Amino acid sequence: MPNVFIKTYGCQMNERDSEQVARDLQDRGHRLVQREQEADVILLNTCSVREMAEQKAIGKMGMLKKLRRERPKLVLGYMGCMAQRLGEGLEKHSPHVDLVVGTQKFHRVAEYVEEALRKREEAFAQEDTAELGSAINPITPIVDIAAEAGSQNTIRDHLPETKKEATAFISIMQGCNMHCTFCIVPTTRGEERGRPIAEIVAEARTLVERGVREVTLLGQIVNLYGRHEFPKVGDKSPFVQLIEALHEVDGLDRIRFTSPHPMGFRKDLVESFARLPKLMEHVHLPLQSGSDRILKAMHRPYTAASYRKLVAALREARPGIAITTDIIVGFPGETEEDYRASRDLAEELGFDGAFIFRYSKRGDTPAALMEEQLTEEEKESRNQDLLSVVNTSASRILEACVGTRQEILCEGPSRNDPSRLAGRTRTNKIVIFEGGRRFHGQIFDVEITSASSSTLYGTPAIHDGSDPGE
Ligand code: SF4
Repeated sequence: MPNVFIKTYGCQMNERDSEQVARDLQDRGHRLVQREQEADVILLNTCSVREMAEQKAIGKMGMLKKLRRERPKLVLGYMGCMAQRLGEGLEKHSPHVDLVVGTQKFHRVAEYVEEALRKREEAFAQEDTAELGSAINPITPIVDIAAEAGSQNTIRDHLPETKKEATAFISIMQGCNMHCTFCIVPTTRGEERGRPIAEIVAEARTLVERGVREVTLLGQIVNLYGRHEFPKVGDKSPFVQLIEALHEVDGLDRIRFTSPHPMGFRKDLVESFARLPKLMEHVHLPLQSGSDRILKAMHRPYTAASYRKLVAALREARPGIAITTDIIVGFPGETEEDYRASRDLAEELGFDGAFIFRYSKRGDTPAALMEEQLTEEEKESRNQDLLSVVNTSASRILEACVGTRQEILCEGPSRNDPSRLAGRTRTNKIVIFEGGRRFHGQIFDVEITSASSSTLYGTPAIHDGSDPGE
């Protein structure tokens, strides 16, 4: 059966979608490979959140044309957010592409891949062999970016049965109705659609049976999950009902979620951190700006004061909780004073980490049409300045962990140094330590011995005399 290589750009939702496509292809007998040189099919799962991400994928597809010249039967495809946004327009950038599949059609990719393989085979058989070297695009591309009701329910059961992982993502919803003026997601991912609680819980149980101990719930505005589809029960939102249901799953020890919207943190969710111990002590809470004027222009319905209050409430509900954030610098019209407001708030709140983004114009968004766009130099200087503020608080928090004992879940070999192991604390900090296979998938305490700017190092706090290398 054909070999498939998938390259993923962008966020965890995209990673999750790629896993789903990979699983579907494997179920139909295709083999996943790690190198594009070995592939009969190459799929790029694309991201539209920044222009740079789109250019990278288009540039990559341009380079793959060379492989097509060597192997005329090679199938090349785009899927995901950029495929959704540009659709047939992608043929202009990449006339040699065979597949363009949008965000509501990941479940059809395997079928389309097989169709494209068939078409390429036929085109190859009809080709004059003398001309083969120039057979760049003899087939009509398959393009499907239509909306499909219920497509949110197709992103499930993604881990191959043979794959042993301690952690997994569960996609609980698709789309977003918030329409922040800088964001392309409502265009690329469509309206909010949630999966039923019972299906999500069933998926979590299956994952636990395969050895998963921690799940991260994924959605573009994950904590507003189900608000248009499922009723509140008492004061509890559908999202809190879902967390409670997952909390009951035996063998599931840790629950995380990303990315929430500050607006979705009502009392019921904040209080969940005080009463549900499986909910980990980490919230990624996008701030975007510390200036009320800019927040309004961004169409973010909260203020710096209400954000500050929310952080205080979370810290009170679960002392020691880690708070990370996203901040955009250089949004159109952002004055020095507006920027100072973001900087001051970041300094005051002392985040555990932050993704700082230089504002990037996205073609189909209201902010792209706003006047007073800032220069790249202004954005870059604010970016660097804010990074130093956030790095200072992040390093201070990591340093404070040295000498403490932290519970971690061991996820397996460290990515940067496979001779050592890596795990995550309850507050989502990476800990590197020495040890053998018996630690994989285990939850235990580690004594933290040192910290770098982004990572903790430690020793398992195990005093039974056994050798951790076993
Ligand atoms: S809430 Fe998030 S995903 Fe939705 S429009 Fe705003 S930034 Fe984009």
